[in-house]
Amino acid sequence: MEAIHPVFCTIVPPHVLDKLARAEDPALAGPARRTLEADAQQRTHRRLTTVIGAPSLAPSPGAADNKVHRLIHDAQHKTDLPGKVVRKEGAEPFKDATVNRAYAGLGATFELLLKAFGRNSIDGEGMPLIASVHFDRDYGNAFWDGEQMVFGDGDGEIFLDFTLPVDVMGHELAHGVTQHTANFSYFGQPGALNESMSDVIGSLVKQYVNDQTAAEADWLIGQGLLAERVQGVALRSMKAPGTAYDDDVLGKDPQPATMDDYVTTGRDNGGVHINSGIPNHAFYLLADALGGKAWERAGQIWYDTLTAGTLSTTPTFADFAQATVAASRARYHDGEETQALLKAWEQVGVPTTQKKAKL
Ligand SMILES: [Zn+2]
Repeated sequence: MEAIHPVFCTIVPPHVLDKLARAEDPALAGPARRTLEADAQQRTHRRLTTVIGAPSLAPSPGAADNKVHRLIHDAQHKTDLPGKVVRKEGAEPFKDATVNRAYAGLGATFELLLKAFGRNSIDGEGMPLIASVHFDRDYGNAFWDGEQMVFGDGDGEIFLDFTLPVDVMGHELAHGVTQHTANFSYFGQPGALNESMSDVIGSLVKQYVNDQTAAEADWLIGQGLLAERVQGVALRSMKAPGTAYDDDVLGKDPQPATMDDYVTTGRDNGGVHINSGIPNHAFYLLADALGGKAWERAGQIWYDTLTAGTLSTTPTFADFAQATVAASRARYHDGEETQALLKAWEQVGVPTTQKKAKL
C-alpha cells in the first residue's frame, strides 16, 4: 500500500492572507499576520508528526454500520488541538451555534458521500469525523490537518465564522477523501486538482443540503464567509472563476477559467488555489450541460475518477481529464454524459486525447 501523505489544506489561500497582512489598517493586518503565523506553525507541526508518527485522534476502528460518528471540540481560542469535547454523536444541540453548525456540516458531508457515492465516511471505512471550533483568536481560516477539521472564528472585519458556509466544511473533509484515495500531491497541477476536488465535493454538499439542481446552485465556495465591508460574494466561483471578489484590501480573485489564462507561479504551492479554477469550471460546465442534481452524474464521474486507482499521485490536468473520460465511458458509454464531458474539457482548453509518444 502506498503511504498516505496528509497535506495541510487551508480554505483561504496564502495569497489572500499575504495581501491582508500588508493592509494599512492594523485591524485588518493584525489578524491576517496571526493567521499566517498559526498556519506556518501547523504546517511545521504536520511535517514533524508525519515524520515521527502522530498519535491518532481517531483510534476507534472503522464502523461498518454506515452511520456517522462525530466528535466536536472547542479549542477555546487556543492552538492546542483538538481541545475540549463539547458535542458527541447523538448528543443534544449544544448552547454554542458554532459547535452545532460544525456538527451539522460534518453530518451533511457524511450523508452526501454515503447517499450519492456509497462511501462510508472519509476513508470508506466509517472513520469518525472530528472537528475543533474556536481555534486561536481572530483566526481567519479553516483547515484539514490530515486527521481532523479545524475552524477559526474569523476577525469579523474580513472573515466571519468559518462554520457558516457548509461547502467550506465539505471542502476540508474532501481533502481527507482525496488523501485516502487518489492521494494527489499538493503542488502544481496535481495540487490544483486536489483543491478542485475539494471545491467540487464542497459545492455538492451544499447543493445536496439545499436540494438544488445544477441550475439552481450558486456554485460559489465560501458564500457567507466574507464580512459586509468586503467587495465580493465568496472565495471562489466555479461558474465564473475570477469573479468572486474584487476588493481594495483583498485584491481581485485571481482564478482562471480556462488554460488560456493559466497562472504560472511559485506561490500558493504553485497556484493550487488559483489554477483549480480550470477543473472547477470544467465540472460546472458538465453539470450545467447535464442538468438535474449535479452529484448524480457529473459528481459520479468525478468520484469514479478519484477512486478508480488509475491515476498517479501527480497527474496533470490532461491526465485527469483523460481519466474522467475513461470513467464516464465505463459507466455511461458514449451517452450524453461522455459527450458533454468531452465538450466541457474542450471549453476550458484541457486536451482529452493522448499525446503521441515522442519517437
Ligand atoms: Zn483546500
